[in-house]
Amino acid sequence: MSLRCPIVCVLGHVDHGKTTLLDKIRKTRVSQREAGGITQHIGASEIPIDVIKKVAKDLLGMLKADLKIPGLLVIDTPGHEAFTSLRKRGGALADIAILVVDINEGFKPQTIESINILKQNKTPFVVAANKLDLVPGWNSKDVPFVLNFNEKVQHPNALTEFEIRLYNNIIKPLNELGFDADLFTRVEDLTRTVCVIPVSAKTGEGIPDLLLMIAGLAQKYLEDNLKLDVKGPAKGTVLEVKEERGLGKTIDAIIYDGIARRGDYIVLGNPDGVVVSRVKALLKPKPLDEMRDPRDKFKPVNMVTAAAGVKISAPDLDRVIAGSPFRIVPKDKIEEAKKEVMAEVEELSIETDEEGIIIKGDTMGSLEALAKELKKRGVKIRKAEVGDISKKDIIEAHTYSKINPLYGVILAFNSKILPDAKEELERYSNVKIIQGNVIYKIVEDYEEWIKKMEEALKSDEFEKITRPAVIKVLPNCIFRKSKPAICGIEVLCGTLRVKSPLINEKGKKIGFVREIKNKEQENIKEATAGMQVPISIEGNIILGRHVKENDILYVDVPEEEVRKMVHEYKDRLREDEEEALKMFIQLKRKLENNMFWGI
Ligand code: GDP
Repeated sequence: MSLRCPIVCVLGHVDHGKTTLLDKIRKTRVSQREAGGITQHIGASEIPIDVIKKVAKDLLGMLKADLKIPGLLVIDTPGHEAFTSLRKRGGALADIAILVVDINEGFKPQTIESINILKQNKTPFVVAANKLDLVPGWNSKDVPFVLNFNEKVQHPNALTEFEIRLYNNIIKPLNELGFDADLFTRVEDLTRTVCVIPVSAKTGEGIPDLLLMIAGLAQKYLEDNLKLDVKGPAKGTVLEVKEERGLGKTIDAIIYDGIARRGDYIVLGNPDGVVVSRVKALLKPKPLDEMRDPRDKFKPVNMVTAAAGVKISAPDLDRVIAGSPFRIVPKDKIEEAKKEVMAEVEELSIETDEEGIIIKGDTMGSLEALAKELKKRGVKIRKAEVGDISKKDIIEAHTYSKINPLYGVILAFNSKILPDAKEELERYSNVKIIQGNVIYKIVEDYEEWIKKMEEALKSDEFEKITRPAVIKVLPNCIFRKSKPAICGIEVLCGTLRVKSPLINEKGKKIGFVREIKNKEQENIKEATAGMQVPISIEGNIILGRHVKENDILYVDVPEEEVRKMVHEYKDRLREDEEEALKMFIQLKRKLENNMFWGI
């Protein structure tokens, strides 16, 4: 059985050299005389294995394996957007990835994001430690790294600098993320240790090493995935839908398995289901030397074998979107292909956030439309799926509501709640489901729910805030001097609650209100303006000495809570509470000699 080319994608932080590296890879050539080099595909470039073997002939021995793959198909668009939008059933379309990291700058946010995406998709990768030429003192040349990495070529200081950067900027951060990693020449088992290949996209140093290691890794890791199904249908994913002069709407696509033939039928998953059309032409880029007229850019072919990038011209492609899966099959296989494509469309997912809500839809299209509306409003979506609401969805929403109660919601367009999910819903009353068959109505309902939730959360918070109060110790009402001190007080304004801390007019801490009693000598939680009540105070004070009859005491509200009341909850305070707050703020400003206290 023959193997197809593994599909390679380049990821990494902005400006670390992805584009430059791709350009350099595309220029890989063996000498003129031997001929041979890159084959340009639509949206991708193919590097035949012979070319790799020749440019890396000095290090072939390192692999200890015979390379059987026909070459590498490198996707021309770098970055994780391309990587994530190019999908096939069960994961990413790319079989293998090159993570580009500037050896001098080290890991950056998008480096880590790229690794997370690769991890999610279980895509094996190598690290291209780029900009080797910028390591101080490094003598960089367009040769394999292994030939340039020795004391004959490099100054000892440059070698030391290199080792320090390699370790600190590449290997250590990889270790911290849980990967075993090393310079590729020191790696024994490609499947256990992440290979780091130093390169310079500028000089070309290390490119042969990089290509060889990818080929080696692909073969070790992926041999089973790369078996070409020559009898099965051509399977592919749409890169882009493009209008071409003289051809109308065409699709640029990557075919990752099987053989596509002109005249066969293309079965595509579009937002509303499946479209069937007939392949009018399969087009490849015309080599520069055959291009007589720049308008005549493509060369028709009769068949295309995976893996390949190809332009497909067929009628009725209007509603196909980038990322759509497809099959190219003879007429009698259309029904089977439809089922497969449908299953894939259902699995396709919208780009999701680390945390957020769950959305469901009956079709890819409805789900996408709902997601778009929500994203416009800044709503975070953690999971977007075609299908009915399942038990798993409810449990997930419940788990996420623990992180943020506003994430405990599932929005569903034309999706039902499955019976076992209904049962689960009774257990988790904090999970809200908003269903409907009009997108903007779902969004409206959701916004209303959010508003209510936010209010409820706020009132929870408001309840916890220390209420302001100003109280007066009543004459002839000191019932017990200390431990605990008990006296009669009148609430002049505000709300006195148990546990409130008290201070006097000089700012001295008096203690906490332990109990408040009513006329029947029962404990009550609070006393409001005008009430005269006995209270007990927990604190190291003696009534009659530290606190005297007719003294005025204040509830000592923390400044943070004062600010909340001033800015957020003003309209929820009673007038006399507002008065108490004002008096307290004035006191604090005077005591602390700070006119901004409480703002
Ligand atoms: P991308 O954003 O990752 O695609 O990065 P680019 O390929 O656009 O490169 C960003 C900048 O780094 C450009 O100015 C490149 O010329 C430069 N650059 C890329 N690779 C190298 C390299 O190996 N050595 C040096 N000196 N500069 C590089």
